[in-house]
Amino acid sequence: MSSNPSKFCYFFGIDPKSGQNLTEGNRNMKDLLGGKGANLSEMCNLGVPVPPGFTISTEANVLFNKHNNYASNIELEGETKVTKDQLPQQIIDEVNQYLTKLEQVAAKKFGSLQQEGDRVLLVSVRSGAAASMPGMMDTILNLGLCDDNLQLMISNFGGNERFVWDSYRNLIQMFGDVVMGVKYEKFEENIQKQKKKRGISLDIDLTLEEIKEIVQDHKETIREMTGEEFPQDTRQQMFKAIIAVFQSWSNKRAIHYRRIHNIRGLKGTAVNIQTMVFGNIDKRSCSGVSFSRNPSTGENKFYGEYLTQAQGEDVVSGVRTPEKIENLSIEFPQCYNELINISHKLEKHYKDIQDMEFTIEMNQLYMLQCRNGKKSAAAALQIYCDMLDENLITEQESILKIDASQLDQLLHKYLTDEEIQKHEPLARGLAASPGVAVGRIAFTSEQAIEMAKERKIRGDVILVRTETSPEDLAGMQMSQGFFTTNGGITSHAAVVARQNGKCCVSGCSALIVNEHEKTCTINGIDFKEGDIITISGSTGLVFNGALKMSEPTVTGGNFGRIMEIEKKYRTMGVYANADTTSDAKRALEFGAEGIGLCRTEHMFFEKTRIMDMRRMICATCDEKRQDAITKLKQYQKQDFIGLFNVMGDRKVTIRLLDPPLHEFLPHEEHEIEELANLLNEDIHIIKRRIEELTEKNPMLGHRGCRLGITLPKITQMQAEAIFEAAIESESEIVHVEIMIPLISSIQELRHQKEIIDRIAQRIISSSSSLSNKVKYRVGCMIETPRAALLADEIASISDFFSVGSNDLTQMTFGFSRDDAEKFLKDYIEMELTQNDPFQILDNEGVGQLIKMAVQKGRSVKPELTVGLCGEHGGEMNSVQFLHTCGLTYVSCSPFRIPIARIAACQQSILSAQKK
Ligand code: PEP
Ligand code: MG
Repeated sequence: MSSNPSKFCYFFGIDPKSGQNLTEGNRNMKDLLGGKGANLSEMCNLGVPVPPGFTISTEANVLFNKHNNYASNIELEGETKVTKDQLPQQIIDEVNQYLTKLEQVAAKKFGSLQQEGDRVLLVSVRSGAAASMPGMMDTILNLGLCDDNLQLMISNFGGNERFVWDSYRNLIQMFGDVVMGVKYEKFEENIQKQKKKRGISLDIDLTLEEIKEIVQDHKETIREMTGEEFPQDTRQQMFKAIIAVFQSWSNKRAIHYRRIHNIRGLKGTAVNIQTMVFGNIDKRSCSGVSFSRNPSTGENKFYGEYLTQAQGEDVVSGVRTPEKIENLSIEFPQCYNELINISHKLEKHYKDIQDMEFTIEMNQLYMLQCRNGKKSAAAALQIYCDMLDENLITEQESILKIDASQLDQLLHKYLTDEEIQKHEPLARGLAASPGVAVGRIAFTSEQAIEMAKERKIRGDVILVRTETSPEDLAGMQMSQGFFTTNGGITSHAAVVARQNGKCCVSGCSALIVNEHEKTCTINGIDFKEGDIITISGSTGLVFNGALKMSEPTVTGGNFGRIMEIEKKYRTMGVYANADTTSDAKRALEFGAEGIGLCRTEHMFFEKTRIMDMRRMICATCDEKRQDAITKLKQYQKQDFIGLFNVMGDRKVTIRLLDPPLHEFLPHEEHEIEELANLLNEDIHIIKRRIEELTEKNPMLGHRGCRLGITLPKITQMQAEAIFEAAIESESEIVHVEIMIPLISSIQELRHQKEIIDRIAQRIISSSSSLSNKVKYRVGCMIETPRAALLADEIASISDFFSVGSNDLTQMTFGFSRDDAEKFLKDYIEMELTQNDPFQILDNEGVGQLIKMAVQKGRSVKPELTVGLCGEHGGEMNSVQFLHTCGLTYVSCSPFRIPIARIAACQQSILSAQKK
């Protein structure tokens, strides 16, 4: 939908007098209104009770940035607020106009000049971008309160002075922090001072007088820290808050979050100005978060938590551990039923699990947010299978809804029942995100980052905290699990864990953390930094020491059912990169249709084999070389027989030897000596041979087909091993595809193909029964730009192509695939590139060469098989792009096959829908 460049505000809400829906937005306007704004509008359109308000669009954020002369993605200096920033007049005028409209609809007045009997309009000011970034940007509640309207507000709420003063306290500290840049701890100190006086620990026990004193202290703190007053002009409050939310798009946390979650290309955040409703007035009020189904398991059971006499922020912050949603049916039965009905309605509408924020103000229910719930992969499959049974979604929808990249989570480790039985748990918390982590305790984000550096030697890290906050994100990324004292299933730690497929146990009251001392006790037992614990986010159990983790099995159940559906709709093949029989078996379990890449060099790295490889490379005469080659052939043949036996009549693509020979050579003195002895040669001769083979730039050197061309005996040996294995295998029919690596000309391919065809002639074509059993084709990899450029010529003698996107990326960019990460991380941070092109295919550049290879190749051979076997074959975005290029198949490592299958299937469904 194209946006109106001169319009920035969009109203949502129903006029209570006329019943007219005044909402201007809808769910499809996420880019313009942000996710929160679009869904608030949509709920109004559906007749769900939502406090009225308006959304200031993301375009306004763009205009704001331009007006203040900075690009939308710069990081604002530290935490200091850029106070000189101004809102463009155009936005101020429109906000004023919408505020008037809101006053009319809410039948309340904003500001201090009010008369007896007027109702005071307070609003919340919340951020909301097109992509969900929970907790990253700023929020201000109760905006509009000032010294002059406090009394009126108190009389609006039946003389409830404590509630109004407490709301004022909350506004001043949120505003002071978010808008005026005063550290939140300064306000905490003011509160603690009052609590200490009477030795109380809970905010709720503060008296009215104490709260009033805190308000004065807060104002004084702001004055001291900024030299400015907390603004009494409510319009000024409003505009400054809007500026702060726009600026919060560029705060450190938000930028870091977008980086980690690959959120790019967004304009900025929208700002939602919404009439306040209060979950903290009295015992008839509460705030909560609920899910239409369980986001952790997917079970079709209403799920959530709430806190009586609290605002929404209190529930998600994990400061108090909330009540289970079931209790709401006892404390607020009518609202509970209404909430359930709304939940059903929203689920039917969005066809996905709903994550909803609500507030009950004096027994009246209001919805403050809804969105498709974030869930674990296992939960997603459960939910979509149930929704299929409930006829809520079609088979195609069930596939399209799956986040393919999340399927990795199904591969999580777990504890068997027997293993659990063997150990006495230390404690039980909430099972907040599935999986198991065994690791060393870190108590701070910094510590986790530091400890993770030694992960390879000393094992994983578990971040143990009273509660986590967005400040901890960097450390959370480096940890394998989170364990917290506070917080429910919607706490920060739990949400981050589920999203990242990490394991989390939260809300464990038996855990007491002393961050300063870097110690904790779990159920009275002391632990220090670096001690090892096991946490199970699937059960909530916590154990002392390291338990034995079991590997996941992903066949059967919901996964099996979805994968059966997937088979019906996918039109592009998914093969596996596999070099061993166990890889091949696993690949079949995951649904691979064949082997797309067997890297034969991997068969030679084992100790005895590498010695024969070295003997072959360093041989000083033909006889010695032949002897070594004969050995190598035996190894290969046995391995190929194993692969053919497992794969039956499925295609097995075998690539001839590819790596630079020096990769096989010994470097240590004793290894060189061992080789010299084995070859019965002088050590100096061997050393000289090694020197001769050393290259300045091995990845562009004597490797790939260049090996088989200069040492044709290797190609002969490999071809013989392949054909003899095919004949001797148990399979009735063997489909073997022999692949020549790294060619850049038709001449290279022809040279190698002639050797292979000659050997095939000798071994199989001599007997018709054998030629019926063994079907072979000879093709090449497209790994050099020249091969892509000349793909038509090459296709004339190539039976198939397989794109080697690792090398093709290396050679197209001229980035070394072994070292590029050293500078690529800077490139990504500076947004010179969006992704690491070795992980996510560069559609623009490398993608063009792939498209060219497909198109040129098929211009000569319309039915030409074109696959891809680089790392990109198991990456969701790349697979989807490759589907649009018309590839026959992608090939990836066994564990990535589910991702590739779903991503490919989604693209097949979308393409079919377009037709
Ligand atoms: C490639 O280059 O993409 C490829 C599959 O080959 P390798 O990674 O073995 O060089
Ligand atoms: Mg390669």
